[in-house]
Amino acid sequence: MSKIKVAKPIVEMDGDEMTRIIWAMIKEKLIKPFLEVDLKYFDLSVKHRDETDDNVTVDAAEAIKEYGVGVKCATITPDAERVTEYKLKKAWPSPNGTIRGILDGTVFRKPIMTKNILPAVRSWKKPIIIGRHAYGDLYKCQEYIVTKPGKAEMVFIPADGSGAAHLVLKDFTGPGVILGMYNTDKSIRSFAKACINYALSEKVNLWFGAKDTISKKYHAHFKDVFSAEIAKYKEEFDKAGIIYRYMLIDDAVAQIMKHEGGILWACRNYDGDVFSDMIASGFGSLGMMTSVLVSPDGKFEYEAAHGTVRRHYYEHLKGNKTSTNSVASIFAWTGALRKRGELDDTPEVMKFADRVESSVIACIESGIMTKDLTSLVTPPLSNYETTEGFIDQVAKRLEKTL
Ligand code: NAP
Ligand code: MG
Repeated sequence: MSKIKVAKPIVEMDGDEMTRIIWAMIKEKLIKPFLEVDLKYFDLSVKHRDETDDNVTVDAAEAIKEYGVGVKCATITPDAERVTEYKLKKAWPSPNGTIRGILDGTVFRKPIMTKNILPAVRSWKKPIIIGRHAYGDLYKCQEYIVTKPGKAEMVFIPADGSGAAHLVLKDFTGPGVILGMYNTDKSIRSFAKACINYALSEKVNLWFGAKDTISKKYHAHFKDVFSAEIAKYKEEFDKAGIIYRYMLIDDAVAQIMKHEGGILWACRNYDGDVFSDMIASGFGSLGMMTSVLVSPDGKFEYEAAHGTVRRHYYEHLKGNKTSTNSVASIFAWTGALRKRGELDDTPEVMKFADRVESSVIACIESGIMTKDLTSLVTPPLSNYETTEGFIDQVAKRLEKTL
């Protein structure tokens, strides 16, 4: 059998713990036997990030900028405990945060669905994709605890020396609390652009919700900047047969619970944080949630939404059999391959990605799955595959389809 040739390189970022073990298996059993692909490899394991003073993360992000498509294994974001465990020089920042910063990207999370795993919400028939604006707002705020009577003001001092703006927040007669937050037009615009790119690429309707009836400046500004960007893409949206809807956030939430899915829900930072967890648990398992980082200029980085599955890794180190779900990591690879195929205009590569995905779905729908899914399927199962056993079964099915 001749291998399918992938025209241009894919940036591959290796990671940590159980997902690193899975990563090697996926490459060995599902990628290398079938594809001739130039992988630009970056080892983002925490040890190697430490050895390179985290420069390897920056290099990987620059490579995604150059080649346009990347695929990333889950990585450890070290805290004090991890610094000791892995004898690190320091608690290096989150690689995802670093890459997101360099690409100025937005993260989209999309659940993988099968016929035998029913979402908690009956009406959900197709994936609900969440795009979260991951900049500013509550996550970069200033807060203050008021302990005595006094006046709280918001002040803006223009850099050009013109008059400052003063706004009285509250004349406190007793204790209370204050919060100040901000965002920038540049970041909101990037967010809107990434959502537009993603909606066009997936051909799904785009929803954006805020509370502009109450917050007539802050929330309304989001709505205005977002809408101004959308207006530039009217023709593309028409051509793709998709629409943009702005709605009040409460209306969006109410409608989501009755909707059949198949939409991209663009969320402000805090809404995205909260609702992405609601959507994830509503669709089933973290092991079935994919994630893609999209930059405003159309660079794509695919990964699983879950972490390195630390507990399973410690079992693996003890020599015990594990049953870790590799589906989201496999779909990270297929996402990257399909996008590569789309950008290079190589339908055979896109078709290969489809075949891998259908092999995975076919396995699960025929009762072959890892332990985390056994209680979610209808009817529940008692048998399950090991980590490697599941990937072997997918490979077996994949061979049959080629
Ligand atoms: P996690 O890897 O997301 O796993 C938490 C728990 O969820 C697991 O112990 C397991 O539950 C279940 N789970 C998650 N993914 C699964 C899968 N594929 N198959 C089966 N079960 C799965 O979070 P963590 O173990 O708390 O975090 C480990 C490391 O991941 C941390 O150092 C964190 O920094 C990092 N992290 C990285 C990313 C990323 O790179 N994108 C994202 C999040 C976290 P049971 O133990 O009950 O089986
Ligand atoms: Mg959250």
